[in-house]
Amino acid sequence: MNYKITDIVCILQAKCDIVHECTVSDLLTDSRSLTFPEKTLFFALVTKRNDAHRYIGDLYRKGVRNFVVSSLPEDRKQMADANFLLVKDTLSALQSLAAAHRKRFKIPVIGVAGSNGKTVVKEWLYQLLHEDYNMVRSPRSYNSQIGVPLSVWEIDENTELAVIEAGISKPGEMDKLEAIIKPTFGILTYLGDAHQEGFSSMQEKCIEKLSLFTHSESVIYDGDDPLIVDSAEKMCMGTREIAWSRKDKDRALYISKIVKGEDSTRIDYDYLRFSSSFTIPFVEDASIEDAIHCLAVMLYLGKTGEEIAARMCKLEPVAMRMEVKEGRNGCLIINDSYNSDINSLDIALDFQNRRSAARGMRRTLILSDILQSGMSPDELYRRVAEIVIHKKIDRFIGIGRELLSYKSLFPMETEFYSTTGEFLASGAAECFSNELILIKGSRNYHFEEISEALELKQHETILEVNLDAIIDNYNYYKQKLKPETKIICMVKAFGYGAGSYELAKTLQDRGCDYLAVAVADEGAELRKAGITMPIMVMNPEMNSFRTLFRYSLEPEVYSFKLLDALIYEAERQGIMRYPIHVKIDSGMHRLGFTLEDMPRLSERLKSQTTVMARSVFSHFAGSDEPRFDAFSRQQIALFKECAVAVQSATPQPVMRHILNTSGITRFTEEQMEAVRLGIGLYGISACGMDTDLRTVSTLKTTILQIKELEEDQTVGYSRRGVLTRRSRIAAIPIGYADGLNRHLGNRKGAVVVNGKRAPIVGNICMDVCMIDVTDIDCKEGDRVEIFGEQLPVTEIAEWLQTIPYEILTSVSSRVKRVYYRE
Ligand SMILES: *Cc1c(COP(=O)(O)O)cnc(C)c1O
Repeated sequence: MNYKITDIVCILQAKCDIVHECTVSDLLTDSRSLTFPEKTLFFALVTKRNDAHRYIGDLYRKGVRNFVVSSLPEDRKQMADANFLLVKDTLSALQSLAAAHRKRFKIPVIGVAGSNGKTVVKEWLYQLLHEDYNMVRSPRSYNSQIGVPLSVWEIDENTELAVIEAGISKPGEMDKLEAIIKPTFGILTYLGDAHQEGFSSMQEKCIEKLSLFTHSESVIYDGDDPLIVDSAEKMCMGTREIAWSRKDKDRALYISKIVKGEDSTRIDYDYLRFSSSFTIPFVEDASIEDAIHCLAVMLYLGKTGEEIAARMCKLEPVAMRMEVKEGRNGCLIINDSYNSDINSLDIALDFQNRRSAARGMRRTLILSDILQSGMSPDELYRRVAEIVIHKKIDRFIGIGRELLSYKSLFPMETEFYSTTGEFLASGAAECFSNELILIKGSRNYHFEEISEALELKQHETILEVNLDAIIDNYNYYKQKLKPETKIICMVKAFGYGAGSYELAKTLQDRGCDYLAVAVADEGAELRKAGITMPIMVMNPEMNSFRTLFRYSLEPEVYSFKLLDALIYEAERQGIMRYPIHVKIDSGMHRLGFTLEDMPRLSERLKSQTTVMARSVFSHFAGSDEPRFDAFSRQQIALFKECAVAVQSATPQPVMRHILNTSGITRFTEEQMEAVRLGIGLYGISACGMDTDLRTVSTLKTTILQIKELEEDQTVGYSRRGVLTRRSRIAAIPIGYADGLNRHLGNRKGAVVVNGKRAPIVGNICMDVCMIDVTDIDCKEGDRVEIFGEQLPVTEIAEWLQTIPYEILTSVSSRVKRVYYRE
């Protein structure tokens, strides 16, 4: 929706001299997601991890002219034609703008709170109701203090119904979301014990979540959950509640029977004196509960039993995010066939943009007609074309009659088909090569068939890497440091197992200063893939110098032998002032020059012009443990002394760095000119102090087969898996050859299935292992987490009496890495 900037100044009560009047329609909080600069209002948010004021200059250069800031930029003079709306707190400003926007609409808004199932319930409501209403729903899981305002902003004159998710992690947050969403009615989904940290008790958490509905007409919840019932009573929800129950016939909605079949479930219910039933194509308990919540909403909106049954049986699984998968012929596939409104098209193209690196990949979009947009087709496809052109799509494939009739709007290379079947039959699926393909279609177009045709078949065990979490962790450490301190990101050992290229690309896009790899070949691979930022090589081999020079990789030099050989080779090639990084041994006693070496090193450096120290550094032996603090301080002192010697032998300023991840946290004041960030980037706090880091890697697989075994039987090699009761044993396709440490066998370790721990039974085999799922509701094909959010790497490291670094880097290269953004 368009707003005059003067009106926004008014709403926000911002201090601002309007330098030019204009209208804005897009709110931007993530500078990477810019689409229409002229129409954008950027909110420079300040979080624990990041201060977005630093992107203002860059956005200005890209054409943005409207900024909400909490401090005016110093170089404001160079941006004379930009409006700066000065407010006390940019996040609050974003929230009040959204709240003011919400107030303009009298439409029903459904709020969804709870710990689990919010996104599924929201998406299912969309699937169930979008035929009847022009709907807006939170994109993906935009449910935070930032996501909710952006979601509410999507509401416009055409909207007839909105579904907005609200997620909180600590007390006090829901009030703010309530003020923005103002739900007409809502749902409290399953509470679970997720995110318990911020709350003193489950009751407190429950009451906080319920407070989303303080001013609502009604709230729907599970009336069999004593905690919720009790909390609702405490909040005097009284007559406004619609509690459903499996036990209590007197509840408004009584679920009389649930019958699970092979792959569908029938649910019988009584509501206002009539009985009816419906079937959903799911059998998991969580899905059944989510479906009952949706049922309650449909009943509340006055849908008939027949309508409900007809739609429930067509519910489809909800993919929670975009995944990048390997396709045939060197393609990468981004499958986002789970929603296709114009808003999510923009988000998906944005994601594609960031992934289509310098690998020389062309960008292709396969798009279906967009249904139920609420816009006229003329307007809709004009906007689609505008976005597609803006995001620089090279090749466009449109599927559907509407797109076909608007083909002239698309100036790039195009193909059009009227149906998905026609596309598949044409053989066009064979004609992709070296492209980054975004697949995006309305449900009825069944684009999953297209992605299946294009994908390479995958090994079922994957390591999922969250690239947004990497950025958040990077920013977390960046915020601890002075703005001018450089960060050297350690992507050695294949990015601590997470994959160096994708990480490097992500960090490069983020403006990170330096990368460090272990050996020259790792660096060369990054260069070939288009990484242009400075790269340091920690262990340059004697025979790798040519690779170093060829690919501008900067070696660490730790001995005279290495230095002499490097100088010799550089002289032979006529190279001048090649940057090197001098390593000092200040107490680790691994590699490096000592204090005694300094006079000779100075002489050697001064006597030549082929190489030049760009930095001097040293490494701690125990920066993560307080008991070594005295020793660490001694290392710092010794290092500084050596650094003076190296600097005095070098005409240019030499960067000094000694802090690794734990060092950044524990010796922040010793950051000097740079730091080396390793394990923290990957979400692990070696010293245990950084609890705000985000999980980056998740190792997961699926259940291949489940067996019911009697108590006298054994499982696996050498009959080590002795059972003591009748058991359900599941086999999963991961073994020690994938990096699952064999010592985790025989119940020393466990994995997570549907939220519960399943111990590993018997000896771990090479490619497979067995787990005990006797007490877990699960079936073949279910997801299994080996490590990740639910089972932290640090815990596995403790079981094995090793360090998290070893667990991360042991995941073998045959395990496919899948990258995603949220
Ligand atoms: C691996 C490494 C680091 C990073 O250490 P973390 O503990 O992972 O932060 C820093 N410096 C050197 C020399 C390293 O080898």
